[in-house]
Amino acid sequence: MSLPSEVDIAIIGAGAAGLGAARALENSGLNVLVLEARYRVGGRAHTVIAAENVTFDVGCGWLHSADKNSFAAIAKQLRFEIDQKRPRWREQTQAIGFPDELRAKFLEELDAFWDRCEALAQEPKDMPAERGLQQGSRWNPLINALSTYISGVELDRVSVKDFIAYADTELNWRVRRGYGALVAAYGAKVPVALNTVVSLIDHSGQRVRIETSQGTLTSGKVIVTLPTDVIAKQKIRFRPELPAKVAAAAGLPLGLADKVTLALDKPDELPVDGHMRGAIDRTGTGTYQLRPFGQPCIEGFFGGAHARNLEEAGEGALAQFAIDEVVNLLGADFRKRVRPLASSRWALDEFALGSYSCALPGHAGDRAVLAAPVDGRLFFAGEATHLTWFSTAHGARDSGERAAKEVMAATQRPTPSPAT
Ligand SMILES: Cc1cc2nc3c(=O)[nH]c(=O)nc-3n(C[C@H](O)[C@H](O)[C@H](O)COP(=O)(O)OP(=O)(O)OC[C@H]3O[C@@H](n4cnc5c(N)ncnc54)[C@H](O)[C@@H]3O)c2cc1C
Repeated sequence: MSLPSEVDIAIIGAGAAGLGAARALENSGLNVLVLEARYRVGGRAHTVIAAENVTFDVGCGWLHSADKNSFAAIAKQLRFEIDQKRPRWREQTQAIGFPDELRAKFLEELDAFWDRCEALAQEPKDMPAERGLQQGSRWNPLINALSTYISGVELDRVSVKDFIAYADTELNWRVRRGYGALVAAYGAKVPVALNTVVSLIDHSGQRVRIETSQGTLTSGKVIVTLPTDVIAKQKIRFRPELPAKVAAAAGLPLGLADKVTLALDKPDELPVDGHMRGAIDRTGTGTYQLRPFGQPCIEGFFGGAHARNLEEAGEGALAQFAIDEVVNLLGADFRKRVRPLASSRWALDEFALGSYSCALPGHAGDRAVLAAPVDGRLFFAGEATHLTWFSTAHGARDSGERAAKEVMAATQRPTPSPAT
């Protein structure tokens, strides 16, 4: 699509938030265009066919809080098959490397940790979620590993108020064809200018001027849905500058989570949808889904400083680490039976710069600051702006819908009925 010289509403970013905003404005009568830097829509939602029989979500994979998740209804409308089985994250297949009695103790300590965090979140002053750990507990490194999966960082960098603000209904579903494929299908009819990198949003004049790698256009209003690190590191500039937005984005940095999928020979020897933790005595360890959906593969998930180190160690380091942990658990024979198919490096991805946002201690309030409109012309969405479903795809989508409603209120038009 070549760029028009002007639109009513420009939306920056075609991830779940940008597509959610565009879909909500579909019947508004306004001329809407999404400007997207990549060659594809979906952003951090991205499904690849890693092998003939292996579908791999490089980014989001789980419909968290599934009974309240707006993508669950969208999946039904778009005829994406949903798997409602509960994930086995609290289990360890065949108790390998994690005997049941030890696992029971860990789960007891984990539940107590959550209870302590809930109490700490009620204190007037915010603090790191690390304060919820029981001093000297042998389970602290493993609880910290969970933090790197949930928040993308270790507990010393997590606001306890933000940690507890997340609304988890404890139902987590998946779509067989991939969450990224679902988000892309949801946005299939949205007008998007791809390969269009926005570098400047100039809101000093009567209309907003947007400079992009494909030329310049003007817009009446703009919805910004960029990842927080893109705003905090000023990869995109505002004129006049918006120091409050940059500061809020910096208070909500992107943690890191990375994934790998390994092809598996003779898969039938392992259970479908099994789960294993790579180790139980350290934070730098992976969590592994065995044969997701019955596919002949093992999917590894890594977070925090450990994932960052593996990215920095170079192409293939993440897969090698996963193979070593799998072999350590399942036996030397597996070295010949697994082979890397695909993996992510989200910190190195220039249009993401990380995986999902996490409020630093003292910064839980930054989500509302980032979400607030500026002068009735600039609007902000994206996972980091959702107050309870931050760090998720459905939170991102819903935030886009919220920003679209704000736009409609500011243009004094009635909100259009939801697009199907
Ligand atoms: C490994 C991993 C696992 C995850 N697991 C889950 C999960 O299981 N469940 C879940 O719900 N969520 C999960 N998430 C989080 C979820 O993917 C994100 O929260 C969500 O997709 C973010 O959507 P968004 O629209 O806010 O941002 P994005 O998807 O990042 O969209 C922003 C868009 O802006 C574009 N952009 C950036 N810079 C520019 C520029 N200068 N000009 C124009 N466009 C630009 C980007 O290319 C991108 O398309 C996971 C994420 C990762 C990385």
